[in-house]
Amino acid sequence: MQKPHLGILLKPASYDCNLACEHCYYRDVRDLYPGAARPRMSTEVFEAVCRGYRALEPANINIGWQGGEPTLMGLDFFEKVIAIETKNARPGDCWGNSLQTNGLLLNDDWCRFLARHHFLIGLSIDGPPPLNALRRFPDGSGTYREVMNALSLLKRHKCEHNILFVISRINCNRPEELFRFLVENDLHYSQFIPCTEPDAVGDGLSRHSITPEQYAQFQMKLFDAWVENDDPSFYLRHIDNWLHLFFGLPPEMCEYRSDCSNLMTVEWNGDVYPCDFFVRKRYLMGNVLTESMENMLRSRAWKEFVSRAEKLPALCSGCRWLNACHGGCYRQRGKLGLEDGDKPYFCEANSRIFEHVFGVLDELKKKNIKPTLHGFLKDIEKQQTRRMQPRSTPSPPPRPRRGATDGGARSVRAKPGRNDPCPCGSDRKFKTCCAGKIPV
Ligand code: SF4
Ligand code: SF4
Repeated sequence: MQKPHLGILLKPASYDCNLACEHCYYRDVRDLYPGAARPRMSTEVFEAVCRGYRALEPANINIGWQGGEPTLMGLDFFEKVIAIETKNARPGDCWGNSLQTNGLLLNDDWCRFLARHHFLIGLSIDGPPPLNALRRFPDGSGTYREVMNALSLLKRHKCEHNILFVISRINCNRPEELFRFLVENDLHYSQFIPCTEPDAVGDGLSRHSITPEQYAQFQMKLFDAWVENDDPSFYLRHIDNWLHLFFGLPPEMCEYRSDCSNLMTVEWNGDVYPCDFFVRKRYLMGNVLTESMENMLRSRAWKEFVSRAEKLPALCSGCRWLNACHGGCYRQRGKLGLEDGDKPYFCEANSRIFEHVFGVLDELKKKNIKPTLHGFLKDIEKQQTRRMQPRSTPSPPPRPRRGATDGGARSVRAKPGRNDPCPCGSDRKFKTCCAGKIPV
């Protein structure tokens, strides 16, 4: 059973963390493992993950280390990880590791190790003070200085890194300031995740979650700041995906692909779940110590999750943005308690964002208002035209994967010819795979 794009998220220390950030989406997982005061993955569990994952023959072997805080495992554990991966690798394999961290435990030894083994590091920060206020130590004090120290270490050791921001009520009105923060700190790879968490006590949203109006305003203003800066070397994950959609290329983010079957999450003790926003008892697929991953992909829990997540709400059929939006990320429906038929939380926000972004991109392509971006868009268009002609010149290789720590971002490149292999990695021809799915 080959699953061309199937990434694995590992939670080696589960929900455990050395910080107490107020908007953490993973803290509730503690309730699933009430007896585990200090959950830690054993090397036996990791061996079983490697064997099971490798047996699925994924097109790319992507292992994402997340938490909680995965560096709580200690450097020794990760040295064993590399030895186990090496033991399980077959000729021609390329194993990719990424690690999402708050950066507090990083030091020279860690960074030397991460650089030597080509880990892609995602560093979590929500902006300069006071925008980073929700990321706190357990005693309530701020973490900004420590995280910026970690960033300096990553740069000094030339570790590949990107920045992950959570958009919350604290920073959602300051997109321009966040973009300036990227430019001033020479941070060329970043992603922004909206905080949309259910309230732990009531049936509404948590007090740090953002409204659809705030989300739309944030994304549109951030995009405008990117346009104003006129420098496509600043990769922002959503913008890169909008560029893919604009040029009729398959987007990389699952929320724009209507594909919720591209990710499995493995907890510290080997329990396997689908997407990590849905680590819940009802979606437990099995345990790597007792079951094969192949069987787990046939389990009732997996099938139920995928069919619920990929089922489109009725109001989406006939929507002009359907091929870009696909009803949005299921997290903003299923996790918020909205039934499948209800209006997705970000429905209007997404419509407004697409309308604005694609309109501006169209203008930028036609007119030389921003010279660098104009040239960048024309180049992509030219590459597409060349690829569609017989005897085309090969297009340049894609930029290295640097955008995401959860499964591999790709940057915009030329549209494939109808008979070329589909860039989604399905091993089918483009014309019989994604070609019909992505017009905008
Ligand atoms: S629920 Fe959202 S984040 Fe999870 S796999 Fe589906 S689209 Fe991706
Ligand atoms: S914009 Fe709204 S109606 Fe259209 S596909 Fe997205 S969620 Fe559905």
